[in-house]
Amino acid sequence: QYAAELDIHRRDEIGQLAHTFQTMTERLSENDRMRKEFISDVSHDFQSPLLNIKGYAELLTDSNLPEAERKNYAKVIQSETERLSTLTKQLMLLTSLDQLVSPLRKKAFKLDEQLMEVIRRHRWLLEEKEMSLSTDLDEVEFQGDPAFLEKVWENLLSNALKYTEAGGSIEITLTKRADKVTVSFSDTGIGIDEKHMERIFDRFYRVDESRTKQIAGTGLGLSIVLQVVKLHGGRIDVRRNEEEGVTFIVTLPASPFTEN
Ligand code: ADP
Repeated sequence: QYAAELDIHRRDEIGQLAHTFQTMTERLSENDRMRKEFISDVSHDFQSPLLNIKGYAELLTDSNLPEAERKNYAKVIQSETERLSTLTKQLMLLTSLDQLVSPLRKKAFKLDEQLMEVIRRHRWLLEEKEMSLSTDLDEVEFQGDPAFLEKVWENLLSNALKYTEAGGSIEITLTKRADKVTVSFSDTGIGIDEKHMERIFDRFYRVDESRTKQIAGTGLGLSIVLQVVKLHGGRIDVRRNEEEGVTFIVTLPASPFTEN
């Protein structure tokens, strides 16, 4: 009787241990799979601009090339180089967000002023696309990492601009409640199909529609947004607007100041 109980007990412990190892192995191989997928995605994203640069640079060596074509080829090289530069910057940012120790350098700053500053920087693009932008911003003194949060607003606004046709409009609101702050970006753009909503925050994910594919992007912007928001203890939601376009809503806890 006793031996049997002991055996069951041991089997139970060993069983638990085996289960733990099994889970660990699964997690490790999942990590490994994700890392391989990430490297493959990065390589693929570097490969196509590099091939373009190589190809057009070769064409430029032709001394009989008409001036107009020479300019066009140089422009392709320029834009592909910019693409590589954006990609590198975004990857470095993502890597810095992935550290075990939080990279946040928190301090107090005025969130409404930061939003206005980001908007000001996009004025020329708004004018170029003849788009209107309205704001409804509460005054908010916030404790967080201003450099990383600026990237969040920057990415959300530039997406709203990119994925909205000329003549459209954008609305940005900032609301302060007792214990939380909400920032929303609403546009009248091409919108996002319900089936893509979960995946748009994944690294390298871009909605596979011909109209999106014509708009330059890396698919990394929203994964940076999600990471920064999570590091601040917040969340991000996305909703389809009734008429057209989408609204991204960032909710951050307005916690009392703590030096990190
Ligand atoms: P990128 O814009 O560089 O492709 P993001 O990670 O910022 O990458 O966005 C992922 C995808 O989500 C985009 O490719 C686009 O398909 C979709 N998306 C993001 N923001 C919007 C928006 N405001 N309106 C419509 N689609 C959007």
